[in-house]
Amino acid sequence: MFLVVKRHTLLLFGLALIFSLGTIVRFTFPMSRPAFSAVEQGGVVYVLDAGHGGEDGGAVSPDGVKESGVNLDVTRELDAVLRFLGRETVLTRSDDVSVYSGGAETLRQNKVSDLKNRVALVNDTPDAVLVSIHQNSLPSVPSVHGAQVFYGKIEQSEALAVSVQSALNQTVNVGNEKHEKKIDPSIFLMKNVNCPAILIECGFLSNAAESARLQEPDYQKTLAVAIAAGLLNTEERQAP
Ligand SMILES: [Zn+2]
Repeated sequence: MFLVVKRHTLLLFGLALIFSLGTIVRFTFPMSRPAFSAVEQGGVVYVLDAGHGGEDGGAVSPDGVKESGVNLDVTRELDAVLRFLGRETVLTRSDDVSVYSGGAETLRQNKVSDLKNRVALVNDTPDAVLVSIHQNSLPSVPSVHGAQVFYGKIEQSEALAVSVQSALNQTVNVGNEKHEKKIDPSIFLMKNVNCPAILIECGFLSNAAESARLQEPDYQKTLAVAIAAGLLNTEERQAP
């Protein structure tokens, strides 16, 4: 019961923050164009992808924290915020597991199978918008920190990335603003999906202070609310 009440209160707080963030983003970027119309297309489905999972932990912080767990925490928060706001969501994974099929034997085969299954889920979802959640790492330059958004090849992806990057710059990146970037074409999931897609590197596990923040539930909620605000700001609004 306590958990239910607490979650509800936090979501209400998140909602208030989303409205204020949405306002900030709109005022700051009055020229930004909607990426797609949720109304015209009958609503989009946000496919939320917590990167890695199971034996594939992804990046690891110097004190042993795996990216896969942080990705899952942020994804769950983002799922809660978007659902609270009436958006439809699908998760590629909701536990600390890989999503490979039977028959894969080696770690590499598992990884390939896992990514193919994620691609299939995205491409089988009508009106999908992919939001893939990851954490970055650059141990050679531990001072590097901050959230950055990468976008896929489908045209509307860039507008999504601009909006989400803007929301992150005004919340978690203040004084350390970053630019959205086109994703490296070698990233399998982003290369093979046929819908608008962004990949968010929420922060650097190689930066001790940011790694600690990324593990805090409140910071994970802040990330989720900022990302949701950025996504919603691209949905076309009815003309006045
Ligand atoms: Zn990753």
